[in-house]
Amino acid sequence: ELPTVAIVGRPNVGKSTLFNRLVGKKLALVDDRPGVTRDRREGDVQFGGLKFRVIDTAGLEEADEASLTGRMRMQTEAAILESDIVLFVIDARAGVLPADQPFAELVRRSGVAVILIANKAEGGAGMSGAYEAFGLGLGDPIPFSAEHGEGVGELHEALKNAL
Ligand code: GDP
Ligand code: MG
Repeated sequence: ELPTVAIVGRPNVGKSTLFNRLVGKKLALVDDRPGVTRDRREGDVQFGGLKFRVIDTAGLEEADEASLTGRMRMQTEAAILESDIVLFVIDARAGVLPADQPFAELVRRSGVAVILIANKAEGGAGMSGAYEAFGLGLGDPIPFSAEHGEGVGELHEALKNAL
């Protein structure tokens, strides 16, 4: 059984972009539990000698940025609870927003090991947002760009240490 890594965060921070970068073309659709996991995606990852299963959360119903809807909460909680590690993603350009907090709270309460990713930080953008991320209480953020592949080495190191 592969260790499992869940990608968690509010809508639009780049979770699915990170998922696609990790999984590449090996992408599985999962819809065995309608209403909870219909928009959840899972894939197997081989990442520089590390092997794990990754779960992307909250794919379709991402219109409501202000609140954590019940369905999104259930899906996120389920993914966290079956995971060995959470990749918690924020948008470093936007900084830490109120909408990040309920997701961070779910992660903190779960006690699952977490790697904090300050995404959209390509080219040194979003440094102040990355600093804000220290305040989430989820450890030191990794400045990252899922779109441009920056920070991949640091993420690999963090995963190697946590898996
Ligand atoms: P999700 O809702 O958290 O799954 O976010 P998505 O992966 O769908 O990405 C939301 C938006 O952010 C899209 O327009 C992406 O192209 C953009 N995005 C994702 N990663 C990056 C990044 O590293 N840098 C920048 N500048 N944009 C990104
Ligand atoms: Mg998504």
